[in-house]
Amino acid sequence: MRLIIYLSLLTPALLAQMTIQEYTPKSTLVVPEHPRSRAKFPFIDVHGHQNTMMAPDKLDALVKDMDGLNLQVMVNLSGGFGPKFRDGIRNMKAVHGKRFAVFCNLDLTNLDDPNYSMRAAQTLEEDIKAGCQGVKFFKQFGMNTRDGKGVRIPVTDPRFEASFRVIAKYKLMVLIHTADPKPFWDPVDKFNEKYQELTEIPSRRKDAAKDGSWEQLMDEAYTLFKRHRDINFAHAHLGWLGGDLAKLGRLFDEMPNLHCDIAAVIYEFGRQPKFARQFCTKYQDRLLMGKDTWNVGEFNTYFRVLESGDEYFEYYRKRHAFWRMYGLELPDEVLKKIYYKNVLRLVPSIDGKAFPK
Ligand SMILES: [Zn+2]
Repeated sequence: MRLIIYLSLLTPALLAQMTIQEYTPKSTLVVPEHPRSRAKFPFIDVHGHQNTMMAPDKLDALVKDMDGLNLQVMVNLSGGFGPKFRDGIRNMKAVHGKRFAVFCNLDLTNLDDPNYSMRAAQTLEEDIKAGCQGVKFFKQFGMNTRDGKGVRIPVTDPRFEASFRVIAKYKLMVLIHTADPKPFWDPVDKFNEKYQELTEIPSRRKDAAKDGSWEQLMDEAYTLFKRHRDINFAHAHLGWLGGDLAKLGRLFDEMPNLHCDIAAVIYEFGRQPKFARQFCTKYQDRLLMGKDTWNVGEFNTYFRVLESGDEYFEYYRKRHAFWRMYGLELPDEVLKKIYYKNVLRLVPSIDGKAFPK
C-alpha cells in the first residue's frame, strides 16, 4: 500500500522531468520486416566527403566497405582547390581510380582582391585540367561569404561569373548546398520540428538579419540556376524542400537543368511514402542517391526506404527525425536512375561499365 502511494506521488513528477532526448519508446508494432544491408543495384553516392590525402591502407578499407554496400563509385566533394586538389586527386585515384570521382571547390579566399575573379577562374581551370570531375559549393557560399566590410556576398555576385563560365565551358556538373533546413530560421519553441537538433547544437540556429533569410538564399540560388541554363546543377539535400515535394516539382518543371540529391533527408521521403513514390516516379530523371556523412551502418535506411514496402521502421538519428519510416517500393527502372543512371549522364567522366543497362 505504501508503495502504491509512493508511486502515485512520484510518477507524474518523473514524467514531467523526462526530456525529448530521453523519450525513446520501443515500438510494439509487429509487421513484416525486410532490412537491407546492401543496395539492390550498384550505386553512386554523389554526396561523399573524404580526406583526399588518406593513407593507402585507409583507402583499401574504404573500398572494402563500399563493396559491402554495393557502392560502386563515391563522389568525393571535398577535393579543395589548387595544389591541395591536385595532390588529393592523384592520391585517391592511384590505386582505386574508378571507384572515386573527385570534385573540386571554388577558391573563396580574398574576395575583395580586384584580381579575385580571374584568379579563382584560373585555378578552377587548372584543377579541371588536372582531372576535376565536377564542382561542389559548400553552404558557406552565398551565406557566409563576406566582403571586407562584412557584407554578405550572394551566389549571384558578378565576381563568381568567370568561374561559372569555366564550368559551362567544360560541361561540369555543379553540386551546391544552399542554406539549411527552414526551421533553423524559426523560433526554437515547442512548434519547431527541429527543436531537438537546435537545442543539441544551438550554433545551427540562423538569423535572417545576419545570414539572409531562407527565402532570400533560395531565391538567389534559383537566380543562379536560371542564369546558367547550360550548367547542370544538383541542389543538395532535396534543396531543403523534401517536406514540400509539390513545390520542388514546380521548380523542376521551371528549371530543366535542376537536379537534387537525397543526402541526409531520406527521412522526408520516409514519412510520405505514397506522395514520395509518385514524385520519384514523375521526376525520376532529376534525383540522385547521396548520403553525406560517411557511416556504413546508416545506408541500410536509405535502401529500405527506397526499395522496400516496410512500415514504421526506425530512422538512425532522432534529432533529424523523431518519426518512423515507410518504404516507397520504387520500381527497378526508377531505382536504377536514382542509384546511378542520372549521375552517369551528368558526370560522363565516371566509367559506366560496372553498372547494369
Ligand atoms: Zn555534404
